[in-house]
Amino acid sequence: MVAWGAFALVALLAGSGCAQEPRTWAEYTESLPPLQTIPHESSHTLRVLYLEDPRLPKLDEKQRETLYRKIEILLAQWYSFKVDLVEVGAGDLRERFEKAAPVFETPLAKDFISRNAIDLGGFGSKDSILSTIREDLARRDEKLIRRYVKLKPGATKDDAAAAVFAVFEDRLTRLRETPVGEEGKDILHSARYADTQSFSHWEVFLGRLADADFVLSNSVIAGPDSAMPLYVAVRGGITNGFVTNSKENDYRAVGVVGALPFLSDAPFFLEERGKIPQREKLDTLATFWMHELGHFFLRMKEHYGEGGCVHVAPEGLRVYEWHRAVRKAQNTCRFLPEERLTLY
Ligand SMILES: [Zn+2]
Repeated sequence: MVAWGAFALVALLAGSGCAQEPRTWAEYTESLPPLQTIPHESSHTLRVLYLEDPRLPKLDEKQRETLYRKIEILLAQWYSFKVDLVEVGAGDLRERFEKAAPVFETPLAKDFISRNAIDLGGFGSKDSILSTIREDLARRDEKLIRRYVKLKPGATKDDAAAAVFAVFEDRLTRLRETPVGEEGKDILHSARYADTQSFSHWEVFLGRLADADFVLSNSVIAGPDSAMPLYVAVRGGITNGFVTNSKENDYRAVGVVGALPFLSDAPFFLEERGKIPQREKLDTLATFWMHELGHFFLRMKEHYGEGGCVHVAPEGLRVYEWHRAVRKAQNTCRFLPEERLTLY
């Protein structure tokens, strides 16, 4: 990767100014310098780490290479970035998380995980999830909410929150009970695999990841968390991928895509997402990865409503229709504001 003179200097000064490790998540995010624009003129390297849950459909080496080449082409076509994707490692997802155990035990990580993780079965969890949903809905207009859940005329914001919760709980329960592994002897969500599917664990893991810029996994991140937006809640808490802040690379960004919702033909996915033809699975996954890379390279904010634009996240779990619309429109985004993210 090319080092960007002024940018690197600012990073160095910011680094030397804070000798003390932040202990709370708020302190940590406040300590992050604003994101800089990534220059189009230089060429870049994106270091990819592939992490696998052996119980789930896999992406073999050849499929991964094909996927990386597709992404390089799309980055050039849609975002005018010259990027080489290089796989820097491949390994077992659960083992890697186990090795990262000390990272999850720091005061900073514990602060974040305890604030964000909501135990679905725990006492009072319905109230915490409902209040998360209510907070999110308060910021959104009714027309947009109605795109995600069916509501009677005259429904209040509380009715809408109850409807979103019902969809959330039903989908997450069915997803978590999906049979996996040899002859479907295991289920997707169990104590052994819980951390590898937890949004807050991923946030902490990615923030400290030094050997890669992006993780590709064949698993899924799903569960309630205290920051989930409407479009994540109606997917049953599934986060197909996300990008967050990093102090470990020059991009100041790090991300993950969980490929299970694109690769699996389990009944849950066939019902909620529909069938993706085998030959189009990699392309569908590539389109979604481009959504995340819009956050990563363009510092693009989340956008809503405009079909055929890759920066608008797929609604619900219908990723295939979303992918087709984006490809058909050749990723046309007419209403994108100029403003970009200064912090993930
Ligand atoms: Zn997004």
